[in-house]
Amino acid sequence: MKLLRFGPRGAEKPGLLDTTGTIRDLSALVDDITPALMTADDWTRLRAAAADAGSLPAVAAADAARLGPPVAGVGNILCIGLNYRDHAAETGSPEPTEPIVFNKHTSALSGPDDPLPLPRGSLRTDWEAELGIVIGKPCNGARERDALDHVAGFCVGNDVSERTYQFDRGGQWIKGKSCPGFCPLGPWLVTPDEIDDPQDLGVWLEVNGERMQDGSTRDMVFGVAHLISYLSRFFTLMPGDVILTGTPAGTGMGHKRYLKQGDEMRLGIDGLGEQRQKVVENAFAAV
Ligand code: ZN
Repeated sequence: MKLLRFGPRGAEKPGLLDTTGTIRDLSALVDDITPALMTADDWTRLRAAAADAGSLPAVAAADAARLGPPVAGVGNILCIGLNYRDHAAETGSPEPTEPIVFNKHTSALSGPDDPLPLPRGSLRTDWEAELGIVIGKPCNGARERDALDHVAGFCVGNDVSERTYQFDRGGQWIKGKSCPGFCPLGPWLVTPDEIDDPQDLGVWLEVNGERMQDGSTRDMVFGVAHLISYLSRFFTLMPGDVILTGTPAGTGMGHKRYLKQGDEMRLGIDGLGEQRQKVVENAFAAV
């Protein structure tokens, strides 16, 4: 099942993508795609609706012109640093011996194709295509072999990063990871039954049509199940929490080039769809 949210920012409606690629309106069944919906009963209800998607109203193209993040009410965005061997190497860092964990502020969330406002005075705004995990059940002290039971779904994420704020402003990384628009998620929340193996997915990103990242989740230092288990030792993961699992090589740091106004990023992950962000002037206050 591929869940999504369509419509203007802050007024998105719930929908799903059927097997023919048509967006269907779920508004008559649920108010929104929220953490509260991630119970066994509601999920079963949605699955039944997805199995009979032809009976749901199709959404007009104009109404689906914008997609929001595929889940509302995200409580936390947790990110894993340097989780691909080739990316650690391109940053000149050793391979981590334990997951490096940092946060993105949730106000950075945006739709998969929303424009990216370049922070005013930005020197090194960079891209990071990443596999996102959305937690579906409270999770504390999970064993690795049970960890995937807590996943509501997977999605594409772009862990946009301003490297100067990240590294040169006295710490911590959250400063460079949380500007408005720095966390595009989506287009869809894809349930785990549609993903054969989360450790065998191609992850790629292009800037202005030039392939910058071309990796695979096979190359993660710490896999999805380990990350969930690991994080759940330190705190309780809650429904709607998002984990961005790190990025392969080919970031701007590696290429020694950074985003500028007018650039367009396109990125995707096998089975999870694609995003596209145009870099625009910052309409927000100076940083
Ligand atoms: Zn990242």
